[in-house]
Amino acid sequence: MGMNQPSALENILITTKVEKVINWSRATSVWPMTFGLACCAIEMMAAGAARFDFDRFGCGIFRASPRQADLMIVAGTVTYKMAPIIKQLYDQMPEPKWVIAMGSCATAGGPFDSYHTIQGVDKVVPVDVYIPGCPPRPEGLLYGFMKLQDKIMASSMADRYKEIFEAVG
Ligand code: SF4
Repeated sequence: MGMNQPSALENILITTKVEKVINWSRATSVWPMTFGLACCAIEMMAAGAARFDFDRFGCGIFRASPRQADLMIVAGTVTYKMAPIIKQLYDQMPEPKWVIAMGSCATAGGPFDSYHTIQGVDKVVPVDVYIPGCPPRPEGLLYGFMKLQDKIMASSMADRYKEIFEAVG
């Protein structure tokens, strides 16, 4: 191809929406909070280690502070004693933020249908993705995270803020 001839790439016009670009950047740079409640957390840690490499999905930098995190992975049994702390940590995370309920306990109480266990963390904080299993394997968490990425990509910030304002009242 000569110097003055346009290449095939120069004839391609790409259009997109600003919101799509923002959603893409959010979906591919999610910062989960370092937070585990019970045995499911061991599988979450395995997902973050070298064999499964959570970081491939842009989700490998676990943060020790809720103020620096936008994803809460509830990995384990939610007791009534722990519930107010989970709510407080959730409230301290900045918007936009997401929650994954990992495993049977976080999803619906798991094997603990008893006086001390909440039958699903969605009674305490809003949940975006539920992952079944006792415990789910790291692949299950990775799949659940990909579902969350799909949800983020399809999200509208206008709708999100409307939800927040309605919840605040
Ligand atoms: Fe433990 Fe099973 Fe509950 Fe996970 S779902 S925290 S593995 S009892």
